[in-house]
Amino acid sequence: MLEFARAGAAVGATPATLEKTRILAAYFRTLSDEDLRRAAVYLSGRAFPPSQRRTLGLGWSTLSKVVSSISSRDEEELGRIFRKHSDLGDWAGEALDGGTQPEPVTLDEVEKTLEAIRTARGAAKAKPLEALLKRLDPEAARFFVKIISGEMRIGLSEGLVEAAIAEAFGVSITQVKRVHLVTGDIGETAVRCKHGEFEASTITLFQPVRFMLASPVETPQEAFTRMGAETVWTEEKYDGVRCQLHRQGTRAELFSRDLKETTAAFPELVEGAPGIGHDVLFDGEVLAHRDGRVLRFFELQRRLGRKKVDPELRREVPVVLVIFDVLWLDGRTLLDEPLTARRKLLEGLGLEHPFLLARLEEATDPEHLDRIFAETRERGNEGLMVKDPLSPYTPGRRGLAWLKLKRPLATLDVVVTAVEWGHGKRRGVLSDYTFAVKDIRTGKLVNVGKAYSGLTDAEIAEYTKRFLEITVKDLGHTRMVQPEVVLEVAFDSIQRSNRHASGYALRFPRIVRIRDEKPVDEIDTLDRVAELYDRYFGEKSEVPLSDVAET
Ligand code: AMP
Repeated sequence: MLEFARAGAAVGATPATLEKTRILAAYFRTLSDEDLRRAAVYLSGRAFPPSQRRTLGLGWSTLSKVVSSISSRDEEELGRIFRKHSDLGDWAGEALDGGTQPEPVTLDEVEKTLEAIRTARGAAKAKPLEALLKRLDPEAARFFVKIISGEMRIGLSEGLVEAAIAEAFGVSITQVKRVHLVTGDIGETAVRCKHGEFEASTITLFQPVRFMLASPVETPQEAFTRMGAETVWTEEKYDGVRCQLHRQGTRAELFSRDLKETTAAFPELVEGAPGIGHDVLFDGEVLAHRDGRVLRFFELQRRLGRKKVDPELRREVPVVLVIFDVLWLDGRTLLDEPLTARRKLLEGLGLEHPFLLARLEEATDPEHLDRIFAETRERGNEGLMVKDPLSPYTPGRRGLAWLKLKRPLATLDVVVTAVEWGHGKRRGVLSDYTFAVKDIRTGKLVNVGKAYSGLTDAEIAEYTKRFLEITVKDLGHTRMVQPEVVLEVAFDSIQRSNRHASGYALRFPRIVRIRDEKPVDEIDTLDRVAELYDRYFGEKSEVPLSDVAET
């Protein structure tokens, strides 16, 4: 532990990144595999690797009580020392100076102590903590408390730990990052890189793998040009939540896009998993799905983030997993296999409800892709994913092998009715615009949304002047303005909402352009909003299941 602390202190003492990397690399080279695994995790400010999903559950009050009880200093002095550092580790280091009986402590003992603290309940957590602190040199205590408090504060990012691993074992930083993306664990990454095991970046089941991401494109032509492929594969872009399913025998776990475990939120998937009949790691999208229809995202939202799902909600909003990729199958890592091979394996599994296969279509030229895109829009979907059939699965990458084609389904011409002062870099300018459409029945303007993106700083500055001139009522933060500035806005969808008198709200509206030439009389109407809503987003617009390939 003392060597760990000395390396940490040396890293903290230099502001130079290269020097920090060099110090850590030299330290890493002295370690056994097990200690290397531990040190890399602790240095990134964690008591446990994130893949273990463990937390210490040790509060600041227990920690400070234990430190105070070992320290030979009185409360007042301890307070003074804390104010000097404002860092728990630095405070503990100084507070314990002279109060402990230092002896050599291994990282293995540190790990055992952390585990003992984790598993102890309530006040019992103090015991293992006290036992170890008493044996630590002040510098080692300082770093042990930094690990516990979850922050090193020595100017060290995970990226720097990766760089040190690269330098220590003569591996390229790209390789280190790649292994890290697959393992999701810096300690495991360090050990694999030490042994040159980066080629076979094998997946460990139940450790979430970072998701492969897509880059946006505007047109089918752009999709072909950027991908540089002769033939592309298209899949529906499902409007649900991304989900990774790990299944081995009767055990199944689910992870969300941010790699958090979400197993408890979707019991039907866990219950269905043993029926898959193979050990797998799937990538897919969870959708709410009832009576043969995919429900809108709004319904699915009721199921998200739950620790427990009551039977009634389960009946009202059942879910399915639409699978579009397999990363691991019966012990074999498939990341480097082309998509064509992965898809073939998926199709061979004979999946059954609640597991469905994403609908796949091949396009051979931009016109063909455009037709498929138009059809998917007709069915009420937001867009298409375009994938290179020969591409490997690259975890955590937003590259050109997966593209998303998402054209705004329509734009609306609206008029600004109120403006607000912005925040942050938009402070001092009127940057948030509430806008309305016309209700032809009453002749009144009714608000349907608020937009704050899409304009350049210069445009915002210019229109700030204009809005100040046409203010009809100054409410402080908000100003009501004469309705005369017409905007064209794009949006992702339309929702029913009580927030506006219109009864509708545009989701993620952005300003396409200011249409100063357009008279307010000619803006879009509430009827048009209602029509778009009914067609694409309303009750009756639910996407038919034929959009999901039955297997
Ligand atoms: P975006 O959220 O706009 O960045 O789009 C990427 C997201 O689309 C992914 O993270 C998935 O959650 C979702 N998605 C829907 N359908 C698919 C599909 N067939 N393949 C890959 N991702 C999909």
